[in-house]
Amino acid sequence: MRYVSTRSGAKPQPFTGILLEGLAPDGGLFLPEEFPKLAPADLSAMRRMSYAELAFAIVSKFADDIPADDLKRLAAATYTKTLFGSEDVTPVKKLEPDLYLLGLSNGPSLAFKDLALQLLGNLFEYALEKHGRRLNVVGATSGDTGSSAEYALRGKKNIRVFMLSPYGRMSAFQAAQMYSLQDANIFNIAVRGVFDDCQDIIKAISGDFAFKAKHRIGAVNSINWARVAAQVVYYFKAYFAVTRRDAEPASFSVPSGNFGNVYAGHVARSMGLPIRTLIVATNENNVLEEFFRTGRYRVRKAAEVKATSSPSMDISKSSNFERYAYDLVGRDPFRLKSLWAELDANGVFALAGTEIFRRVADTGFVSGSSTHADRLATIRRVWKDYGVMIDPHTADGIKVGLEHREEGVPLVCMETAQPAKFAETIREALGRDPIRPAGFEDLEKLPQRLEVMDADAASVRRHIERHAA
Ligand SMILES: *Cc1c(COP(=O)(O)O)cnc(C)c1O
Repeated sequence: MRYVSTRSGAKPQPFTGILLEGLAPDGGLFLPEEFPKLAPADLSAMRRMSYAELAFAIVSKFADDIPADDLKRLAAATYTKTLFGSEDVTPVKKLEPDLYLLGLSNGPSLAFKDLALQLLGNLFEYALEKHGRRLNVVGATSGDTGSSAEYALRGKKNIRVFMLSPYGRMSAFQAAQMYSLQDANIFNIAVRGVFDDCQDIIKAISGDFAFKAKHRIGAVNSINWARVAAQVVYYFKAYFAVTRRDAEPASFSVPSGNFGNVYAGHVARSMGLPIRTLIVATNENNVLEEFFRTGRYRVRKAAEVKATSSPSMDISKSSNFERYAYDLVGRDPFRLKSLWAELDANGVFALAGTEIFRRVADTGFVSGSSTHADRLATIRRVWKDYGVMIDPHTADGIKVGLEHREEGVPLVCMETAQPAKFAETIREALGRDPIRPAGFEDLEKLPQRLEVMDADAASVRRHIERHAA
């Protein structure tokens, strides 16, 4: 399998050629020349597989230049009961007939990103060791994604992580999740400032190509293809859990921001998994909902992005959306490039009434959005009716999912984080503290390891230089 860029300007490469990459050199995103197609016999064999076996069966179709035994070993080391809390890895809970909650947040950072990033950490370590290379991952976090990356890369050989976070501005729980890591290769840099200051420092550092090349600076952002491939797996696992026959349809509702999670559903559907509808749930930052409703894809200015109670979905644009748009334009990179040139110039493109927008229906996508009041009401209702405590992101998914539910079609709503991470909203909704998963009872009391620094790119750079792999 070879990987090309959505904008045609990169030479086709095997999986290991793009594994460590973010954007393609032409500014586009990497994706496979074509999606692997599953035969009916493949599907029925997969129905009986464990999570790790399924991960190997699916990821090996995308990573076909990694020797099978190596990939099998990496998948088996990643998707364990120890790391994810159960044999199922992504357990399905039945809320009522044909309504399910898919548990994606039982990994070490209590958010769904662990499912992809834990495999990515092992793949990165494997690839770096094989080629005698090293990597310094530099990133900024407002609380949520940073901990998934740190938990995925802690203790990995030839990798160091420099994670910037706004000092004193995260919840005590989120800060403790990151700062309590004692691994020598994890560097928590708490910046005296806000999240935007952290991002500006990252931009300054990434803009310095000589520094980047010299220190092998990389990122683990949501556009990495291996992350998408790893996320395809749980669509299959959940599909088999809620259906009995291989042709039976099922629908998924996905709390969405950067469109990585739900795009993986599009890949699963394109491979032949009988997904009927992919429901894209947004919060007040409804870039995606606006597109699916009106055909207008309009990116927001930073000042327009609202800080909501489902903060991991607060986005100004959706970085993986370009991959989906590539399919909508019939995989024509020149058409795609001209749309993105329009987007860069005007901040918007509009497809209503075009052949391209009509194709949305063939892809099974629908969308909806929710508000803070909706989240509170949904958290309360799910707690009262099913005795299940959900986090605000999951609430967005359930609220929008139910609006698109169809009689007789199993609906799988994704649980993307644990309520323990969002105590304030849980207290507002339920008047009590969230349930803490076992092992997290005394998280805030653990010793913390962090460096507090001024919001100054030069000092952060010096810190990285001193400690780089
Ligand atoms: C990242 C994240 C999302 C959004 O996922 P995308 O792949 O960016 O669409 C939703 N919920 C939680 C808890 C997240 O951390």
